[in-house]
Amino acid sequence: MKIPKYEAGQTVEMSCSACDSDQPHTVQSVTKLGKMTKAMCDVCETVSTFRRGKKVSVDINKAKAGAPYNFSQKYRKGQAIMHPTFGQGEVTNVVDGQKIDVLFGDDVKRLIHGQE
Ligand SMILES: [Zn+2]
Repeated sequence: MKIPKYEAGQTVEMSCSACDSDQPHTVQSVTKLGKMTKAMCDVCETVSTFRRGKKVSVDINKAKAGAPYNFSQKYRKGQAIMHPTFGQGEVTNVVDGQKIDVLFGDDVKRLIHGQE
């Protein structure tokens, strides 16, 4: 398998949690090995930070706030959430039908979803 190498300034198509769809992103910084560490959505200016290929932090443009968090709703990976306490976050992992991991800034919180 070929590992893609990136350079700063390059445009890469990837999913944007704030836009809730695939958007062109401008690579802002890379490691010496060409791994992407920071990229900004060209459409909404949300900045995502990566470590070892995994998204570790997301700085969502305030103008593109996600829908308020509601535990009775079902969430899916990549969705943006506005939490009353933790603020703006992004669903990074759906654990099961009742739990999700959400990245707030650089902190992951486990929240419930899909509750009756
Ligand atoms: Zn976006």
